[in-house]
Amino acid sequence: MNIVLLGPPGSGKGTQGQLLAEDFNLVQLSTGDLFRQILQDPGHPLYDKLQVVKQGKLVSDEVVNAVVEDALTKLKNAKGVIFDGFPRTVAQAEALDKMLNSMNKKVDVVINFDVTKHVLLHRLLGRRICPNCKRIFHIRQGYTECPDCRVQLITREDDNEEVIMKRFNEYNEKTAGVKEYYLNSSDCVFINLTVDDPDITAEEVHNEIVSELAKKGLAQ
Ligand SMILES: [Zn+2]
Repeated sequence: MNIVLLGPPGSGKGTQGQLLAEDFNLVQLSTGDLFRQILQDPGHPLYDKLQVVKQGKLVSDEVVNAVVEDALTKLKNAKGVIFDGFPRTVAQAEALDKMLNSMNKKVDVVINFDVTKHVLLHRLLGRRICPNCKRIFHIRQGYTECPDCRVQLITREDDNEEVIMKRFNEYNEKTAGVKEYYLNSSDCVFINLTVDDPDITAEEVHNEIVSELAKKGLAQ
């Protein structure tokens, strides 16, 4: 089973991807993680092309697709893959279909995390980070310092309402086409998950996803 996760930064899709990967024995493929791995390996064939990431520039569809294809060929024998942070454009979605087709596979499920502005702000404005190990906490956990590093937690500079809303709107504009693409595809199951309760736990969201998958006969 191959799953695509769609959702803005702060939607919790990364965490949900981890839980699904554990439950269904799938491999989670986060493009952010792949970029970081390649950038630490100067011998990697895509190392030079990814230098734009360090300059804070956007990575072209062509390069993103090459990164994903490279990772997928190494995962030929996986039971399934969870795509986190990809595809972000229609061109990437089309490329992914082609890659999977050539392996006699397809996107089976798309899970769209429809998070309200209210929930997003609650989550991200309450976020605190350890300046040393970069671990992320939420004020409701009650920490003021990192339990490992014993240093004061800080608020990330871009975790303010203006930046969060800008990212949210940009995300929606950019990915509207991808959502349409999968909604119009007869080949995959599209699950829309509305997250409008700021206090919902990751476990509760996970249970909702598993129950939706079960309804479609996909949760064995
Ligand atoms: Zn720390």
